[in-house]
Order: sequence, then C-alpha cells, then structure tokens
Amino acid sequence: MIAVDKCIVCDSDKQVSFGTMKNDPYYKRISGRTNYDVSYVACKDCGLVYQNPVLGEHEMEELYSEKYRSDLEDKHDRFLKQANYFREHLYPWITEHIHLNGEKSVLDIGCGAGTILMPFKDNGWETYGIEPTKNISEYGRQNFGSNIKTGFYDRYSYPDKKFKLIIFSHVLEHVLYPEKILHDIKENMDEESYLFIGTPNVTLPMMPGGILHGDHIWLFSDRTLKLYLEKLGFDIVVMDNWVPRGLRVIVKMSSNNADRQLNTQQADDYRAVKRLYKNIKLKEFEQFSKTVIVRNSVLVNKLCGNIDMNGIRLVKSREGIVNAVMATNDKKILLYKCKNPRNAASDIIKAIDLDGYKVIILFGYGLGYLPKVLLKTLREDQRLIVYEDNIPLLKSAFLYLNLLGFLNDKRVIIAINREKLISHLKEFIKETMTKDFLIMTNSLIDHDYLNRFKKIMDSL
Ligand SMILES: [Zn+2]
Repeated sequence: MIAVDKCIVCDSDKQVSFGTMKNDPYYKRISGRTNYDVSYVACKDCGLVYQNPVLGEHEMEELYSEKYRSDLEDKHDRFLKQANYFREHLYPWITEHIHLNGEKSVLDIGCGAGTILMPFKDNGWETYGIEPTKNISEYGRQNFGSNIKTGFYDRYSYPDKKFKLIIFSHVLEHVLYPEKILHDIKENMDEESYLFIGTPNVTLPMMPGGILHGDHIWLFSDRTLKLYLEKLGFDIVVMDNWVPRGLRVIVKMSSNNADRQLNTQQADDYRAVKRLYKNIKLKEFEQFSKTVIVRNSVLVNKLCGNIDMNGIRLVKSREGIVNAVMATNDKKILLYKCKNPRNAASDIIKAIDLDGYKVIILFGYGLGYLPKVLLKTLREDQRLIVYEDNIPLLKSAFLYLNLLGFLNDKRVIIAINREKLISHLKEFIKETMTKDFLIMTNSLIDHDYLNRFKKIMDSL
C-alpha cells in the first residue's frame, strides 16, 4: 500500500479520518492480500475525500487488467442497453454543449466495450477507445466494431494525434496519478478540443452500492473538482449533476495552458461532508434513491453551492396543508402529489383494519398527516411506533404542524434510529408475546423502508 501524504487538489497535508469500509470486494480480488479494509480521509483544507493508503501500482495493474470485470456471458444485452442509455442521456448533453467546425473525432479513455462511443459512431464521428481490461476491450472490438485498443492510456498511446473530444467517464476517481493522466490528455488536445469528465459526486452519494469502495480513490464534489481542473489549466464550459451517476463536466484547455494557484475559500467544508455521511449512515442506504438528496437538502445545498439545485422546503398552502416542494430551475415538484394529504391519510386509515393489532409500526413520519390520523383511530391499549431517522425533517414537520400533542401521547413512540427501533420492538415482543405487528410505510418519501425492516425483523 502507498501512503498519501498530500491532498492532490490543494497540496495540504492536513487530513482527518473519514471512514473505513470493511471487506471490500475489489481488494478481495487481489492476490496475496489479506487486509480488505478501505480507509478514507478528508482534506481539512479543501474537503476532498480520498483513500489513504491506496493500492500500489502492481496491485492496481492486476486489478484493472485481469480482475476488474469477470465473466462476459449474457452481457451482450446489457452492453446494448448501456449504449442506448448513453445515446439518450449523454450524447445529447455533450453535443449540445460543444461547438465544432469540420472534423469530428472522439477518444474514450477507459471505454469498456465502447458503449459510449456507439452513438458517436452512428452520427458520423471517427471513434477511438482505449481500455485496460482485456476481456472487455476484446469483446467490444469483436462485437461492436469499435476501434478499441487494449491498454492503459498515456501520452504515447496516440502520439501526435489531436482529438476534438476526449471522454474520461468514471475513470478519474480510479487512477493513481490523475494529474499525470490529465497532463497526458492535453497532449492529445488542441485549442478547439473539449474534454468530458464524469465522476461520482461525494456530496450526492447515490450510485447503487454507494461510492466508497476499493476502486474509488478520489471522491470529488463539484467544488473540489472545479478547483482541481482549474489548477491543472482547464476552463470549465459546463458542469452539472447527472442523477444517479454524479458530476459531469466539459472543459477546454485554458488559453495560457498553465497550472494555476487556487483559492480554497471556494472549497468544501470537510465537516459538512462528514456530517452528510453520518446522516446517510453509509451502508444503510444500499440502494440509490432521490431520498438522499431529499433527506439532506440543506447540507447538499451547502456543499453544491455552484450548482443550480434548490433543496427541499416545506410550504404551507392557504388551506393550512403543508407540502414539501423541490424546485429545480423553473420546475417545482411537489413531493406529496395528492392535493389534500390530510384527506388522503384518512382514506388510507379507513381502508385498513387496525383492530387485531397491538402494535402498529409506521415507517417514515413524512409530514405528519398519516401518523396524526392514525393516532386518532387507535385504542388505549394499542401502540404506534413511528420510525423516522431524518431529524431535520421531523423538526420542521413539528414546527409547521404543531404536533406537540402527538409527541406527548403515551401510545406513541418515535424511534429515531435502527437501534432504538430494535430495542422498542424487543420490549413489545416480550410484553405481548407476539411478533404480529402491523407495518405501514409513509412511502412517498422512502421506498426502501420495507427492505430495511425485513433485515431488522430477521435480527430480532
Ligand atoms: Zn485539499
């Protein structure tokens, strides 16, 4: 392993432990390795999150040339699906933001089977790809006719060739020496060329399985990525977030093409990044979900200050009904789509027979309509457990709906985390000698509760 003593963005040596992921699946594939822990630190000056220590060069080479992706059976449809996804969602975005006269040539670095290149090829571009993983690059060459080389990219891969567009999609976070490779990329660019970079956003950790794992070394936010690219002599043409894949940015070489001094006042507050992860509870959110943004809107806004993405806020309409609104650009999206959530909650409760249950567990407090109506219908000997681990949401809902009465009702328990829920459930099981709970979810906000609950029940 190699220790990283300096931040690649701001050169600071001040770092603070960010988190350790156990039993990493990528580390497990490397021969001779017995320790599978992946440790991350955050830079105290700019907020970049990065692995420390990192795998050595030989281990990296072994991982990416042989062991990164294993069997390719039944992958054909998956590759075609991927190509269609890029055709619909990435190709139009890139071509909308670049302006070329004449020749159209594109190089995809770390191209896999060449799925990003396919729509470019279909639209008359001259396409090139380079990919270190042998079986995948071979598969792409044979099946999709893409012009793919097998190997690790550097400035000698395409000597003297200038591409009008270089794609560097979800590779930056994987490479040991990103500064070197970005300097090499400039050798294949001229003043007209564009570089596309896609990489996860540490402040929007929404990819399936999360983004902290062995193959991800550098985790940028929009701020740290901007600082880094400007420092290395690139000008940003456009940058945004592409849910759920993360940041995407198009840059050109800056006219003086030199490395610059950077201003870390525009950096991330590493404490805010850490807090965000604490809220997200890392492994509990195994599936990506808009929930992550919804639940952490204030922090996400704070961290994504450069991006036009307003957070969630609660609004009160004339009828006294509270709803949550997410505004992106000019569009406003109501999180609770029904016009009158209070009536909708009554309808739901009317449709359920609560009589036979001693304990009702409601996953998600939501904005309080469902729990409030639910409580009205409960007998004295029934109990209502509301599981809600989003404290800011709870607080604002209480504030708007004045639910002190709800809180003070002896039949109500609010479990604010998994441990509390488990201990309450154990008590009830002891008291009532049954595991026959009625489970409800306030699923407008979180669709993942039931899976999580199944795990909890299995643990009882
Ligand atoms: Zn830094």
